Amino acid sequence: MKVSALAGGTGAAKLLRGLASCLAPEDLTVIGNTGDDTEVWRLHVSPDLDSVMYALAGVLDRERGWGRVNETFHCRDAMAAFGAETWFNLGDRDLATHLTRTAALRAGRSLSDVTLELTRRLGIAGLLLPMSDDPVRTRVRTPEAWLTFQEFFVRERARVKVLDVLYEGAEQARPAPRVLAAIADAELIIVCPSNPITSIGPILAVPGIREALARARARVVAVSPIVGDAAVSGPAGELMRARGLPVSPAGVASAYAPWLDALVIDAKDARYVDELATLGIAAVLADIVMTDAHTEVALARHVLAAA
Ligand code: GDP
Repeated sequence: MKVSALAGGTGAAKLLRGLASCLAPEDLTVIGNTGDDTEVWRLHVSPDLDSVMYALAGVLDRERGWGRVNETFHCRDAMAAFGAETWFNLGDRDLATHLTRTAALRAGRSLSDVTLELTRRLGIAGLLLPMSDDPVRTRVRTPEAWLTFQEFFVRERARVKVLDVLYEGAEQARPAPRVLAAIADAELIIVCPSNPITSIGPILAVPGIREALARARARVVAVSPIVGDAAVSGPAGELMRARGLPVSPAGVASAYAPWLDALVIDAKDARYVDELATLGIAAVLADIVMTDAHTEVALARHVLAAA
């Protein structure tokens, strides 16, 4: 079965690892969020693409959920000694990714082109596509200022009040090559358990992608990043509230309702089944919290069965 998945970072990485072990590797195409891309020490960093890439290559640090396993931070410490800002942690092995990507982009190559090269060199047979080769940048408005996503998430540890979120550059952005075809040609489309506002939101903000999802012949199945009234991890709840969405599986459903066929929700959240049905979305009950390789594969199987 040819599967295309919309993905953010940490939650997506876990489900994708599970899916990769259930599918022929070349049958998985991932459309990744670049709204939280940033520059660190003049290097282009794509945190969500990298989390997915490292997960599929088997080199993601499972404990942290980001960065490479067996990582060291000597360069960061040396940069700190030179007075550089070091709140965004770049590991030594991870730096090789950002150096390679930045050099390629400066030489005029596209983000999708260099992402293909990085994934192939890491031995990934599936396709990882950035949602767009054009810059789209998520901004978070707090009572004091508009922050970049990484300033909000990493520097401020997502502890500030959020008033609004916008996707700068989205209106002018075009889907990266192969993104619309990946949606049109898929036999199943999966929306990973990712932050609906700052991971899936930027992907949907690229003109043409929402329309392609609505037209797709494949079923679209999402996994809720919310269990009960809270995110499994991270600031998705606070961001959904800022966007006027209830923090619940029903809130996730209403963010995706026009084009979503089914939402996989936690078995404890059966009380939302009827509310989802009124939105035209079938609820699939499962254990949706992934804690190890076993639960990742079990959830992946559930999602494939829901198709
Ligand atoms: P961020 O951390 O909020 O920026 O968002 P990401 O999209 O990178 O990934 C984290 C999202 O995945 C959060 O909304 C989490 O609630 C969700 N998540 C993390 N782990 C799991 C899990 O094991 N199961 C489910 N269902 N969601 C998860």
